[in-house]
Amino acid sequence: MDYVSTRGEAPVLSFADVLLTGLARDGGLYVPAVWPSFSYSDISALRGETYSAVAHRVMAPFVGDSIEDDALRSMIDDAYATFRHEAVAPLVQIGPNDWILELFHGPTLAFKDVAMQLLARLMDHVLEQRGQRATIVGATSGDTGSAAIDAFKNSQRVDIFILYPDGRVSDVQRRQMTTVAGGSIHALAIDGTFDDCQALVKALFNNFSFRDRVALAGVNSINWARIIAQIVYYVTGAVSLGAPERSVSFTVPTGNFGDILAGYVAKRMGIPIDRLVIATNQNDILRRALDTGRYETTGVEKTQSPSMDIQVSSNFERVLFEASARDGAQIARLMAGLAQSGAFGIDTAVLETVKADFDAATTNEADTATIMRETYDKIGYLADPHTAVGLGAAATRRGNPATPMVTLSTAHPAKFPNAVEAATGVHPALPAFLADLHDRDETMTRLPNDRSAIESFIETRTRAGSDRGAA
Ligand SMILES: *Cc1c(COP(=O)(O)O)cnc(C)c1O
Repeated sequence: MDYVSTRGEAPVLSFADVLLTGLARDGGLYVPAVWPSFSYSDISALRGETYSAVAHRVMAPFVGDSIEDDALRSMIDDAYATFRHEAVAPLVQIGPNDWILELFHGPTLAFKDVAMQLLARLMDHVLEQRGQRATIVGATSGDTGSAAIDAFKNSQRVDIFILYPDGRVSDVQRRQMTTVAGGSIHALAIDGTFDDCQALVKALFNNFSFRDRVALAGVNSINWARIIAQIVYYVTGAVSLGAPERSVSFTVPTGNFGDILAGYVAKRMGIPIDRLVIATNQNDILRRALDTGRYETTGVEKTQSPSMDIQVSSNFERVLFEASARDGAQIARLMAGLAQSGAFGIDTAVLETVKADFDAATTNEADTATIMRETYDKIGYLADPHTAVGLGAAATRRGNPATPMVTLSTAHPAKFPNAVEAATGVHPALPAFLADLHDRDETMTRLPNDRSAIESFIETRTRAGSDRGAA
C-alpha cells in the first residue's frame, strides 16, 4: 500500500516508512492512496472470530508487503495478550439499544493502549529489520504518554521522550509515566499546556536537521499505524451488533480526532455505520466547525476530561482532505490560514460532505458530572468523565431508536478518580495490578516551553543517530 500526504507535496511512502515518519515533510498527514474495501461476505465472515483474527484481517491490507504476514499476526497476538479481557474491547448494554464499548482493558487503562501496544511492536520489528534505532518524541495530555511508555518499555531499538503539561495531568496518568524504570524512558514535565507540548513536538519534526540527526519518529495520533489499530474495534463492535445486515452508530469522545477518524475509515471500508457522533467537552472546536463552517481556535479550558482539552484536532485534516476530493493544495492553504490567523473557513460543499457522516455535540462540565451520577444511580455503571461526555452526546444525537448506538468508553474510571468520586460519591479502585502505583518512585525532568532546550536534552541522551544510515 502506498501512502500520500494530505498536503500533496511530500514523497509517496510505504507503510513501514509512514510508521517511522509520523508527520509528512510538507506538514501534512499520510493517508492510504486507496481505501481497502470489505464486501458483505467479508464482513459476515468476521462473525465469531477472535479480536486478534479480526485485527489481522482489517490491518493486513493497510500494511501491504511492508511486514511479513506471520510476523504481523504474531505481533497482533502479543499486543492484545496484554489486555485483561478476552474480548479486548467488550460491549456492555446500558439501555434498550444503547451500548458502551469498553476500550480500557489494556495496561494503562485508556483506549490509547489498543493502538500503542501494537505500534511499539511494529516499530521495533521494522527497526530491527533495517538495523536502525529511533528516537520517539510525543506530546501527551496524559493518556498517550502513559500508553507509549508502557508499550515501549521493553523496546530494544527506541529511546522515548514524552512531553506532558506540568500540573495538567491526573496523578494516575503522571505516575504511569514517571514510575516506569529504564534508561530509554524520559518523562518531560513542560511548563505549558498540552497544545504547547504538541506545538513543540511539531517544531522538532519541522527542524529537519534535528529530525535526521536523532532519527525522530512520532507516536501521536497522527501516526497512521495508530489509526489502523483503532479501526478494529469499530468492526468487532458493529459485527457483534448485527453487521453487515444491520447498521450501527457510534459516539466517540473526541480530542485530536484520531479515534473517530478510525470509525470513518471503517465506514469507508464498507462497515455499515450510520452516524458518527463527535462528542466534545467545552473545548469544542469541532462542534463549532460543524455548526458554523468556521474552524477557529480559542483558548484551552481545563475540564474533568483532560484528554480532550485540546485547541486543534490534528486528524480532522484527513477528513477534510477526503471531503475536498483529495485536493492537497486546498488543504495546504487552509492549514496555512490556521497557522497564520488561528482559523479557516470550510467550503460549503466540503462541510456538507463532512456532515453526511458526522454529527457533533458538546457536553458541558455540569452535565458531565450529572451523567456520571445518573449512570451510576440507574444501572450501577461507573463511567469515567470522557465516557460521560460521550454518553451526553449520544443522548442528544440518538437518531433512529432501531439503530444500535455505541458509545466508546475511552478510559477506566480509576484513571480519573477525583472527578468520578465528586460526581458519584464512589471512589473507583485501581485494578489489582496497579494497586501500588502511588507507592512507586517517580522520575521526571522539568523543562521550559522552549524548543532548543528540549532539543539539546534529547540530543545528549538518545542512543539513536550513529547507526541510522545503516539500511
Ligand atoms: C486520547 C483520549 C481521547 C481523545 O481521543 P482522540 O483520538 O484524541 O480524539 C478521549 N478519551 C481519552 C480517555 C483519551 O485518552
